[in-house]
Amino acid sequence: MALTGGELKRYNRQLILREVGEEGQERLRRARVLVVGAGGLGSPAAYYLAAAGIGTLGIVDSDRVDLSNLQRQILHRTEDLGRPKVESASRALRALNPLIEVKTYPIKLTPANAMETIQGYDVVIDAVDNFPARFLLNDACVLAGIPLVEGGVLRWEGIMMTVLPRRGACYRCLFPEPPPAGGVPGAGEVGVMGAIPGVLGVLQALEAIKLILGVGEGLAGRLLLFDGLTTSFREVAIERDPACPVCGSSPRITSLGPGYPWEGGD
Ligand SMILES: [Zn+2]
Repeated sequence: MALTGGELKRYNRQLILREVGEEGQERLRRARVLVVGAGGLGSPAAYYLAAAGIGTLGIVDSDRVDLSNLQRQILHRTEDLGRPKVESASRALRALNPLIEVKTYPIKLTPANAMETIQGYDVVIDAVDNFPARFLLNDACVLAGIPLVEGGVLRWEGIMMTVLPRRGACYRCLFPEPPPAGGVPGAGEVGVMGAIPGVLGVLQALEAIKLILGVGEGLAGRLLLFDGLTTSFREVAIERDPACPVCGSSPRITSLGPGYPWEGGD
């Protein structure tokens, strides 16, 4: 279906890019992107995906808005305190762009629901805040063959990488096992400057948009590290590990069913 007059005008500044055009915009409209986590990374990521006209945007989050979220989780407002994050996220995104569909999942991702939740999406954005969920999402996306854009932030720093299942390194190629519970501190213990997930979340949205348009060069095979205190980026080349427990040549993890190593609770 051709773009409407309203769409042509709304998306004009990206439509006139050589790499987009009307065909690219229609591709974005057909696309389905799942953002797992409506927090510090998920907020800017979802905002820019919605603004760009991603036709179907899924938002997964089981939390309610807390006062300590508002310093960085910009989808939510002070008046949303106590409301489910997926509700305030959905309202903010629809207010920005009523042309898109926002699907909400007020759930915690577990091995029992991960595969059905990500099914049908073209790209998944990892905007979670804990290691069990990060490894679960990696494994689910590798098993389902869905590109995953990983991101993580702490203090003044952020990292990100893109996983193209079985074509490039996955998260477990780098880190075969999650750290022990409590082994790595979180933002609740050591803090995070609010603009840091802002930087990384926007880059995650850009990465997803490029994947959908099939333009440019993505972060597959490259771990990007951002230091906000010195405002510097560096990157480390990463390769698939033939011994990777999920995408290696004889993987130990072949499903999320019984026997899947899970310590994330129900
Ligand atoms: Zn791997």
